[in-house]
Amino acid sequence: MIDVHCHLTEEPLASRLDMVLKESREAGVNAIITSGIGPDDCHRALAISDYQYVYPSLGIEPYELEGYDQVIELIRRNKDRVVLIGEVGLDYYFGTREDRELQRKVFAEFINLSKELDIPLIIHSRSAGKYAIDMLIEHGAEQVIMHAFDGKPSHAERGAAKGYFFSVPPSIARSEQKQKLVKRLPLENLLLESDAPVLAPERGEVNHPKNIRVSAEWIARIKGISLEYVLEKLTEQTKTLLRI
Ligand SMILES: [Zn+2]
Repeated sequence: MIDVHCHLTEEPLASRLDMVLKESREAGVNAIITSGIGPDDCHRALAISDYQYVYPSLGIEPYELEGYDQVIELIRRNKDRVVLIGEVGLDYYFGTREDRELQRKVFAEFINLSKELDIPLIIHSRSAGKYAIDMLIEHGAEQVIMHAFDGKPSHAERGAAKGYFFSVPPSIARSEQKQKLVKRLPLENLLLESDAPVLAPERGEVNHPKNIRVSAEWIARIKGISLEYVLEKLTEQTKTLLRI
């Protein structure tokens, strides 16, 4: 299994990183992509990446864009080592119309950067699923993972038709919306993510990369196929996309 999205630089994972990685290995996780958020955290994500088991993904929260130009610079400087650009995207949960204008401007820059450097995107789209998919299609993005997608299945299907992936967090265990999404999307468009330390199977608990097994189990159950097949297929898809 490969966890395409989590935050190993965040507490309570960061201070017990060795333990977290050991447990992940023992649970059958073969690689982890840790996402840096903002310039400082991106530096930390690079620092803990060993490019054998932990790989960096560099981005910034759409609702806290200070220093985004430094993140772009960091991605450029590390373009041969960064496996994903993100999380980046749109967040319409908070904020004003002016905030949304800025979010869209910055998001467009990251989409263009992804195309220019040939590095796939991983997208945050809270309360903005439709708009994020629209922008990605409009700007001709081709290598895309929609992370913890909270939009309608009909919008997801437009993305899937373009070959976009949707990474499924362990919170699918308590989210009817995620279960519906998995039902509607082909296995060919699904990947596994933990988003640890958040989005655990149980509300309020600390999440860990090893819990991507829960996502895989739910996918197998919903699709009526074996867990082994889900693990094999999704790992292969992830390797192809990320070239790891
Ligand atoms: Zn995240």
